[in-house]
Amino acid sequence: EDGRVQKPEWLRVKLPTGKKHRELRGLVDKYKLNTICQSGSCPNMGECWGEGTATFMILGNVCTRSCGFCGVKTGRPEQVDWEEPEKVARSIKLMQIKHAVLTSVDRDDLKDMGSIIWAETIGAVRRISPGTTMETLIPDFQGNTKMLDRILEAAPEVISHNMETVKRLTREVRIQAKYERSLDVLRYLKDQGQPRTKTGVMLGLGEKDDEVFETIQDVRNAGVDIITLGQYLQPTKKHLPVKEFITPEQFKSYEVFAKDLGFRHVESGPLVRSSYHAEKHIL
Ligand code: SF4
Ligand code: SF4
Repeated sequence: EDGRVQKPEWLRVKLPTGKKHRELRGLVDKYKLNTICQSGSCPNMGECWGEGTATFMILGNVCTRSCGFCGVKTGRPEQVDWEEPEKVARSIKLMQIKHAVLTSVDRDDLKDMGSIIWAETIGAVRRISPGTTMETLIPDFQGNTKMLDRILEAAPEVISHNMETVKRLTREVRIQAKYERSLDVLRYLKDQGQPRTKTGVMLGLGEKDDEVFETIQDVRNAGVDIITLGQYLQPTKKHLPVKEFITPEQFKSYEVFAKDLGFRHVESGPLVRSSYHAEKHIL
């Protein structure tokens, strides 16, 4: 008995299918493009790619932080690639992505924390693939409003920042982050007039119902428009264990609660990832 819980039937991975998905897959292989969808072997790839949505990670694949749930490598990140904004934008154009989700590792090692590359990438996508809408899933930039302003000025359709977990577990789940600081980031974005803000929370890390309700309420109070709630899955044995598999019914009860609070969009279910159905969130 190692205390690990069995994966329930509702989490079985759906195999990617469909013509659009096959086409994209071909392009991605041919041009060696990088997407989180593939590197994270996301179960929703068939569906998202079929809709023309994909997630791209910028600023390298080594992170200065070491969140207990995250499969990204921690350490000394590589040098900034100033060509990256252009490369990402060209990939998006080539793949004919209708809605791109951009995310990054945290770059606490850089003076600008990566905010310049962020802004340039958003700008490059606008220029090179003007028909593509964007969601930017940003780090907390340590709460620095100058860096947040760079993102706001670049004006992506949706700006998201994930709470990831409830207040009590934040220290354990994402050691270098702070619950209140993440809330402040979300509140600031809204106060500055960002039309769509979004957050994501993973469940199954040992949080209690009440704590989930509290988190949903806290982000609504910070003006957040869109929330995603999904099941945490352990990327490797070295990561935080899954404490519980939340049932579809439980996810439904969170969804009903969130909808009653007036969120514009709520995605709540075992297979929900923060970029799941992202293309719907610009509406
Ligand atoms: Fe990619 Fe996100 Fe969709 Fe998964 S949910 S396939 S990571 S866009
Ligand atoms: Fe992973 Fe983001 Fe945490 Fe870095 S900051 S370890 S990329 S979740």
